[in-house]
Amino acid sequence: MPYFAYQDKQKKDLVKASEITIADKDKTFYCKTADCKAQLKIVNVADSNRAFFRRLSSQAEHSSTLCSADGNFDPTKYRESGFDFDSIALNLMSSSANSSSVVGTRNQSASGGGGTKPISKLLQIYLMCRKYETYNAINTNDILADERNFSTYSHGIVGTKVVQCTYYHKFKDEFSLRMNYPSFPYRNGKYLKLNFSSKELFWYFYNKLKTSNHKELIAVLGDWNTPNNGNDMYMSECIINTKKQIHILKL
Ligand SMILES: [Zn+2]
Repeated sequence: MPYFAYQDKQKKDLVKASEITIADKDKTFYCKTADCKAQLKIVNVADSNRAFFRRLSSQAEHSSTLCSADGNFDPTKYRESGFDFDSIALNLMSSSANSSSVVGTRNQSASGGGGTKPISKLLQIYLMCRKYETYNAINTNDILADERNFSTYSHGIVGTKVVQCTYYHKFKDEFSLRMNYPSFPYRNGKYLKLNFSSKELFWYFYNKLKTSNHKELIAVLGDWNTPNNGNDMYMSECIINTKKQIHILKL
């Protein structure tokens, strides 16, 4: 569900879904991906918070999973001012965290509601970062590493981040997985290593991913670092402590 599309067949005039007016509600748009033949229409026209493009099912398929990687984030469901990435990430990565203790809502319910909850899940963080450059005054490029900021992160991912990747294979004789960043196939793409805090957690995800077509996008939240010896096997690695750190994206 992209937020950008071309208005012309020649793909020169890129427009934002949030800026399309009602006059263009039946217009055909063209996929933002250079070689993609998919045609699109606007959904939720003239509602800048909720507008996005959808592929015309009677026309060509998208050429890449990245075409629709934006997903669809509805900001009206979440309280932006309560968004605190570091706290949410800590909560999702901590195996001892109580799943009911949603960060940022502690003082909210006292008034009896009205307000909505802030983002609390990995999928919501991913979708929000695909939509906004800044959210609650935080630069989303500092949160999500994907194909759009590949040049920034292609030399190493360090610190707490969400990374968009695809499954490649299991490391031989190890309880760890090798992933493609930011997708597959991708020119000069990199590899990541996911380590697991327990064998059970490793098998849980390996059994889910082993049949992947390698194109399915996956969001991984981790505290990333780069190996000291700069090896070719992978650029960065992190430890998976909980099931909440990996989300297989169905976009
Ligand atoms: Zn496309």
